[in-house]
Amino acid sequence: MCHPAILHVFSFENGRLQHKKSQKVRIIMEYIVSARKYRPRSFDAVVGQEALTTTLKKSVQTGKLAHAYLFCGPRGVGKTTCARIFAKAINCMNPSPEGNPCETCESCLSFNEQRNYNIHELDAASNNSVDDIRELIQQAQIPPQVGKYKVFIIDEVHMLSPGAFNAFLKTLEEPPAHVIFILATTEKNKLLPTILSRCQIYDFKRMEVNDIVRHLEFVAGDAGITYEVEALNVIAQKADGGMRDALSIFDQVASFTDGNITYQKVIENLNVLDYEYYFSMTTSLLKTDIKQVLLTFNEVLSKGFDAQNIIGGLATHFRNLLMSQSAETTTLLDVPDTVRARYKEQAAACAPKFLYTALKRCSECDINYRTSNNKRLLVELTLIEIAQAAAGDDSPGSGLGPTQKILKPIFQNGNSKPVKNNTPQQVQKTQPAQPDTTQSTTQSAKPAQNYSQTTGTTPAPKVSEPAPKNSFGVKGGALSIQALRKRSQTQGDQQQNTKDAAANASESQATDIGTRIFTQEDLTNAWLKYANQLPREEKATAERMKNMQPTLLDECRVDVIIDNGMLMEIFQNISDQIQTFLQRTLDNRDLRLELRLREYTDKRKAYSQKEQWAEVVEKRPALLDFSRKHKLELA
Ligand SMILES: [Zn+2]
Repeated sequence: MCHPAILHVFSFENGRLQHKKSQKVRIIMEYIVSARKYRPRSFDAVVGQEALTTTLKKSVQTGKLAHAYLFCGPRGVGKTTCARIFAKAINCMNPSPEGNPCETCESCLSFNEQRNYNIHELDAASNNSVDDIRELIQQAQIPPQVGKYKVFIIDEVHMLSPGAFNAFLKTLEEPPAHVIFILATTEKNKLLPTILSRCQIYDFKRMEVNDIVRHLEFVAGDAGITYEVEALNVIAQKADGGMRDALSIFDQVASFTDGNITYQKVIENLNVLDYEYYFSMTTSLLKTDIKQVLLTFNEVLSKGFDAQNIIGGLATHFRNLLMSQSAETTTLLDVPDTVRARYKEQAAACAPKFLYTALKRCSECDINYRTSNNKRLLVELTLIEIAQAAAGDDSPGSGLGPTQKILKPIFQNGNSKPVKNNTPQQVQKTQPAQPDTTQSTTQSAKPAQNYSQTTGTTPAPKVSEPAPKNSFGVKGGALSIQALRKRSQTQGDQQQNTKDAAANASESQATDIGTRIFTQEDLTNAWLKYANQLPREEKATAERMKNMQPTLLDECRVDVIIDNGMLMEIFQNISDQIQTFLQRTLDNRDLRLELRLREYTDKRKAYSQKEQWAEVVEKRPALLDFSRKHKLELA
């Protein structure tokens, strides 16, 4: 798709042609992202919102239209797409009997070519001032010259400033007869009741994984991309019910995998934990095989996954198992059929009470995670408690209160509990505590030892300690949860040292990044990769990043244009993180992000008449003189 070429720049100086510079560039052929290429043009092509599109079609058929519509729902589920189709359909001169736009009349054609003056779009996220809304209201007063309605689509309407909201409210209360507003928002709760009460409200739902997978299959087939259904399933899950996200991830993965999308490549690229881990961890939990559970947990951590994400994933897994226990609730399972069967199988081995306790422990862990000083140990404790629940000791608060029961031993002396799944090497590493202090510390608790490696703070075993004690606080082979909690606290005091150590480590690591030359395309891909890896809570930032276009200025400076001051604050906070990620991904330690606020001269869609006029005048300055001479003003 790309051809390297040399770009030569010449200039005339002193009457001679001078060769200024030559630069290696890649000519990027026209590349349309799937989200745009496969954006539905009729209601029937919209995926996963049948109930809603049926109602909209009906109102086009009957011509019974409201003055204001509010489309709410999560990101990327088709709100703006439906708003556009709806706007096109109500202005269509010849809509189909079902209520779809005809796509052949002048109104439809001009809309598709983005020259329809009856349909206006405003992104309230970047145009949220009173002036922006005044411009819009001004335009609303002018009746359409052709067609029936002027339609205003206001995206992310909750982002309007309070002043803009008030200015808008008056027009919304008494709109001109020829005006229809379609407001879209991801956060209905942020809208004033006075706005809500004036709108016909449509709630868009998250798309189901199977719907997304089916659509991705269609797109892949159309684009000649080979795939494994499991892989598409992971993409759909990662997109969390948003089709636009799914398509964006799909594009990225397709480009990384050279058009052959496999499950293995997808989970590596998207930093998704293989669900096999959850199945095997649950199997170990059910057997109360805590050693294996902790080893698996350690393995997952060493792959770079965040402990909280693992607990979150495990909670989802338990929830799915709970849902798989009866035929009625199986429908609530949002997984492909192949995985569904495996859930059913594992669910049969779980007592409902175990699942209930496990879910509760996971949820508690999630709540306490942020404030915990020793996050890893908190998760390990949770896993141990869940395993205890599997063994039947599921009394609430076991190991917590003063009236605690003595827990079942976890690390037992001798071979009273055979461990079938362990490889010989693993068994050796997790052998029960030996009388010899040093040996037990280094051998018996692999996860804790590993923790000490990551933080460098676990104190060395003191020979003077009275009883043999390994790093898990195990006395006489049995593990006391209280001891673990106590340990969690004391280790927390050493967190500051840990942070310093981490800072030093990252500094020294920076030298292992090279100075590889990268292209604009590499940069865009790495940028999208970062956005796609952001956790669910940072979805808004991810979405913003996908709409931004970092530009490679020279070999390592990257120009990032930020729309407004509010976003600038957000991005200033995370720019270091992004920069480090890009440096690593692109293997160039000199890469620098340069954030700057969007200036008037930066390319942006001219929305208001004032902006459009400014654009025209810039191209033809004579017009300005002409308008001044004749005292012309914008209507
Ligand atoms: Zn039409």
